[in-house]
Amino acid sequence: MGRNLEPKCKQCRREGEKLQLKGEKCQTAKCPMVRRAYRPGVHGPTSRVRPTPYGVQLREKQKAKNSYGMMEKQFRHYFDQAKKKTGNTTDILVQLLEMRLDNVVFRLGLARSRALARQSVNHGHVLVNGKSVTIPSYQVKEGDIISLSTKAKARPSLQIELAKLEQHLTPSWLYLDIQELTGKVLHAPKDEDLKQNFNPQLIVEYYSR
Ligand code: SF4
Repeated sequence: MGRNLEPKCKQCRREGEKLQLKGEKCQTAKCPMVRRAYRPGVHGPTSRVRPTPYGVQLREKQKAKNSYGMMEKQFRHYFDQAKKKTGNTTDILVQLLEMRLDNVVFRLGLARSRALARQSVNHGHVLVNGKSVTIPSYQVKEGDIISLSTKAKARPSLQIELAKLEQHLTPSWLYLDIQELTGKVLHAPKDEDLKQNFNPQLIVEYYSR
């Protein structure tokens, strides 16, 4: 599977907003969006591009794709899947993206970024219903229990992260038991549960051209 090698902070600057791709750094003054909140490149600070409707759709798609850390082919595949299912394509697309295992680990606060969540899954540190699952794109289901392996719980860095978990806001469609470090998928995310930094409707329009 290919990876987007463009520096993460540059991706944020191109979209003109914080995509929270680097975990802790995103909350500090070291975030480049604090001092250089303009597009990358020599013309970045003075650039005054008026986007076309197509440009707006493209940027929303790129924002979502980069936020979930995917390549174009994989992201497009989610749209194709959503289109085949019965129901509102926009809602199904967001549900498919949100219910990826790496995203659920991130949303539960068990990893500081989606990239770190993906790494934990790849390394076999994440269990679904007690069994190790090493596929970041694995689709969780209602009632699934997400936990960390004994090895992951023994990591010294986890103790530092635990202190921050108290402040973490778990989305309403997930439940986190902080003592046991175990999460549960209560139900598939619905519109009101989702606060996205992108407009999924524009993504559907982009791919439906
Ligand atoms: Fe984006 Fe985080 Fe880099 Fe800031 S620190 S530009 S939010 S990835």
